[in-house]
Amino acid sequence: MSGPRVLTFANQKGGVGKTTTVACLGAALAEAGRRVLLVDLDPQACLTFSVGLDPDAIEVSLYEVMLGLVDPRAVVVGTEEGPDLLPASIDLAGCEARLLPVQDREYRLRQALTRIAEDGRSYDDILIDCPPTLGMLTINGLTAADALIIPMQCETLAYRGVGQLLDTVTIDVVGITNPNLRILGVLPTLYDGRTAHSREVLADISQRYGVDVLEPAIPRTIRFAEAPAAGRTLLATDSASKGAKAYRKLAKSLLGPEFANF
Ligand code: ADP
Ligand code: MG
Repeated sequence: MSGPRVLTFANQKGGVGKTTTVACLGAALAEAGRRVLLVDLDPQACLTFSVGLDPDAIEVSLYEVMLGLVDPRAVVVGTEEGPDLLPASIDLAGCEARLLPVQDREYRLRQALTRIAEDGRSYDDILIDCPPTLGMLTINGLTAADALIIPMQCETLAYRGVGQLLDTVTIDVVGITNPNLRILGVLPTLYDGRTAHSREVLADISQRYGVDVLEPAIPRTIRFAEAPAAGRTLLATDSASKGAKAYRKLAKSLLGPEFANF
């Protein structure tokens, strides 16, 4: 029996669609019959909120999990659209400082996911939403994963910082904590295919950093802004929209032969 496939979504730039991607792709994978666990590593708890939970009403969160204070299995909650969630709370903001003296601090999330995989609670896909930093929470998100996807907005200079992210990934993670991490590529988000500029940015990134550009690009549409307040993803609030379709297509591609062997 193979374990779950763990995908992490990181980019230290905020507002590039990490959280939206984790929520929507998770919903799309669940629709396709996969057992999905979402992990909210961001103290701002936007993922937790956008799948319908109130971060302020959560009693135990990933914070206690990261500090080893609770069994991670006791923290997992269900969501309306199918995926389970390891929720964040504002407490998570104090987590990095608390982890400083901890010896195996980079491995806390990985250990928790291993624990969850024991005892029959099994998932096909685990999707991790990283905070917009390259700190210890993101390092945990990268250390726990089989593969990394970098959501990126196709705008001028959007790629500044990608070099720094890739340095962290290769030096600190692949070099030390997780040699098997595979960089799947950049996922273009907030994409406006009508402008030549977006296409140029994509071609440039791929060439400059030697990373693949994943398909399909996620179109920019105002619909996305409306979904989180409803506690549902775009797949539920506007199922036929082009944004929802793009995430279904991405889910299908990730389940296809090109990505079968990790
Ligand atoms: P991050 O997690 O990287 O900070 P978010 O997923 O929270 O980014 O997205 C930032 C903002 O952009 C949110 O208000 C979200 O609703 C919006 N957004 C995300 N993806 C799209 C899109 N494809 N089109 C339009 N707005 C989007
Ligand atoms: Mg986010």
